[in-house]
Amino acid sequence: MDRASLFHPVTSIHDQQTNGPQIYQSASGVELVSAEGKRLIDMGAGLWCVNVGYGRTELADAAAQAMRDLSFQHLFGGAASEPSIRLADRLLSLFRERAGAPHMARVFFGTSGSDANDTAFKLVRYYNNLRGKPAKKKIISRIGGYHGVTHASGSLTGIDGYHKAFDLPVDGVLHTSCPHYFTFGLPGETEEGYTNRLIADLEDMIAREGADTIAAFIAEPIMGTGGVFLPPTGYFERVQAVLDRHDILLIVDEVITGFGRLGEWFGTGAYRLRPDIVSLAKGLTSAYFPMSASIISDRIWSVLADKSAETGAFMHGFTYSGHPVGAAVALANLDLIEREGLVENAAAVGPHLLDTLKQALADHPFVGDIRGHGLMVGIEFMADKATKRQFPKGTAPHRVVARHATQHGVLTRALPFLPVNSFSPPLSITKTQIDIAVERYSAAVKAAEAELM
Ligand code: PLP
Repeated sequence: MDRASLFHPVTSIHDQQTNGPQIYQSASGVELVSAEGKRLIDMGAGLWCVNVGYGRTELADAAAQAMRDLSFQHLFGGAASEPSIRLADRLLSLFRERAGAPHMARVFFGTSGSDANDTAFKLVRYYNNLRGKPAKKKIISRIGGYHGVTHASGSLTGIDGYHKAFDLPVDGVLHTSCPHYFTFGLPGETEEGYTNRLIADLEDMIAREGADTIAAFIAEPIMGTGGVFLPPTGYFERVQAVLDRHDILLIVDEVITGFGRLGEWFGTGAYRLRPDIVSLAKGLTSAYFPMSASIISDRIWSVLADKSAETGAFMHGFTYSGHPVGAAVALANLDLIEREGLVENAAAVGPHLLDTLKQALADHPFVGDIRGHGLMVGIEFMADKATKRQFPKGTAPHRVVARHATQHGVLTRALPFLPVNSFSPPLSITKTQIDIAVERYSAAVKAAEAELM
C-alpha cells in the first residue's frame, strides 16, 4: 500500500519503490518499535523534535481534555482561547527569565517551523513598509542553513538540494558564507581569523547590495540540518555589531535549539543573542501536535501597533494559528520539561554523549570531527582526516553508517549538506541509554568500514 499510495517527503522515490517503507508501530521514552517488533533507540528524537520522549500520557490527556473543552477556536478578528493566551504569556516569560530577552513583546502562532519562518519573512517586509523603507527587504541567510521548505523558508534554506529543482531561492534572499571552521577554515587559519573572514564576507555583501536594501539576517544558533555547526569564536557578537550598524533585524531560528536542546532553554540565551524575531516549533509541543510560534520584539511590535489604526487588520494568519488543542499540549509539555528538569538533564548528559562518542570513535580513520553542545551532536566523516579529503561524490559514508546503525538498533540522521550523522535524542535520555546507543553506533561504524574502504 505504501508503494502504491504514499508520496513521502524528503525521500528518494526510487529507494522507496525499491525497498519499501520502514514502518514504526509504537514508541515509549527513547525507544521506537518497528512493525517487525525490533526495538531501536531513537537518537534523533524523530526530526530533532520529541524533546520529552515518546508516549507521554500527560500530553495525550491534555490533548483529549482540550478537544472536549473547545475542539477548535481561531484567533482571527480578535477571537481567542484561554490556552493560546496562556501559552503566549508563558513563552514571553520564558524569554524574559530563561533567555535574557525581556524585549520580546508578542507571540504569533502557526503550525510548522517553515511557516514560522514565512511569518518572519513577511513581517520584516511589513515592518519596513510601515517604516517608509520599501527598498529595505532583502534577507541574508547562510550557506548550509536550514529554515524549512515552503517557497519563502525554502529560499532561506541554504542547501542546493532544496533549491535547484524548484527554481528557488526567490528574489531577495542572499546567502553568505557557512560558519563551520572545521571544514571551511583554511590551512593555518585560526578560528578567530576564520571569524574575521566570515564577518568580512558579510560586510562585503552588505556593501555590494546596499545596506538600505537589506532588512534582516536569519540564523540558527547552531546549524542543525547543515551538519551541527557550532558558531566559531566571537561570531555572533561580531554579526550583531554589523547588523546594528546597518539597521538590519536579526531573526533567530530556534526551531531545533528551542526548549532545552542545548542544555539551556534557548539558543538565544546560550549565545547571548538579541533577536528581533524568534522562530519556534518542534520542542514547543515535543511534536505531539503541529505548532509553531514567532516571537517578535518590542521594536517591531511598536511600529506595527503605532500604525495599526491607519493600516487596518494584519492580513496574515492561519486557520490553525493558536489552535487550542496545540496550545494545551504545549502548556502540558512545558510543565513536563520544568517538572522533570529536562533542560538540566540535557546539560548533565549532553557532555557524556559527546565524551563517549569521542572515546569510541575519535581515532577512527573515517571520523573527521565529533562536536556538539548539550544534546545536539554531530559526527562528520572524511576519507582522510589529516588532509581533510572528502569521500568521492556518491559515497555518502554517513548514509552507509546510518543504515548499519538502524540494523544495530539505533537511529541517527544522515544529513543532506555535509556527510554528518546527527544525534539529538529526547532530553529525558539517561547516561545508561546513551552508553548503549553509543556502543551500538560504534559497532555500526565498524560494520560500515568494508563498504567505505
Ligand atoms: N528551521 C529549522 C532550524 C529546522 O531544523 C526546521 C526543520 O527541521 C525548520 C525550520 C522547518 O520546520 P518544519 O519542518 O516544521 O517546517
